[in-house]
Amino acid sequence: MIYFIGAGPGDVDLITVKGKNLMEKADLIIYAGSLVNPELLKYAKNGCVIMNSAHMTLEEVIAAMVPVAQAGKLVVRLHTGDPSIYGAHREQIDLLRGYGLDYEVVPGVSSFCAAAAALKAEYTLPNISQSVIITRMEGRTPVPDKQKIADYATHHATMVIFLSSGMLEKLTKELLAGGYKNDTPAAIVYKASWPDEKICKCTVATLAQTAKENNISNLALICVGEFLGNEYDRSKLYNPTFSHGFRAASAEKEESK
Ligand code: SAH
Repeated sequence: MIYFIGAGPGDVDLITVKGKNLMEKADLIIYAGSLVNPELLKYAKNGCVIMNSAHMTLEEVIAAMVPVAQAGKLVVRLHTGDPSIYGAHREQIDLLRGYGLDYEVVPGVSSFCAAAAALKAEYTLPNISQSVIITRMEGRTPVPDKQKIADYATHHATMVIFLSSGMLEKLTKELLAGGYKNDTPAAIVYKASWPDEKICKCTVATLAQTAKENNISNLALICVGEFLGNEYDRSKLYNPTFSHGFRAASAEKEESK
């Protein structure tokens, strides 16, 4: 059996209980060494083989997993954050299917959630943004048409931008081209939930300069939008005048007394 497990954003306590339990039983752990906290490997049992996929190709990862899984042993493939976000686990799954091996995906806490926690922010503030766009700048991996930063910026929804902290001047240009203002609030969250986490609040115009001043060029998320500002409407759900399945509105409560 092969388990693709989300390791969480860095803090070892942010792996799920299910993920940790499986790590403790694993015979082989292949972890994404560029971002998975190696401290998590303390959960490996004696005799567990541990490999760092940062030095391996897709084919080498598959070649390492297959014989172990075929022998009926337990393989853990540990991905940073949640595997579904830029995790490249789909291509592994598709190759493994050819061998008829069983696999399961165990979700993890994505870094975009850890960044919100670090900022103590809510991405979906009423009347400010009800959507979160998770995206990236085009790098060596191309971004399909209509999915460029400038396209998404037109929505003025909350944006969380992965894999882009090394190209912030270009990012600012794209955000402005899409209609954000120079003074739209932004934040750079470096290594969210790690001991050396850094939170740098800035604006769309000052992203590159802020990163430079703080020596940040990778391992960071860029958060953009008015959710970082001070204006919002309060929620309907917890408003005394709003009733729903679990609670009557104050006026109705009075009536039913
Ligand atoms: N699957 C991961 C993302 C992998 S892509 C997830 O769900 O978080 C790698 C990119 O994720 C990094 O370049 C960075 O932009 C972001 N990232 C991952 N962990 C991070 C962390 N702890 N703090 C800030 N950004 C992080």
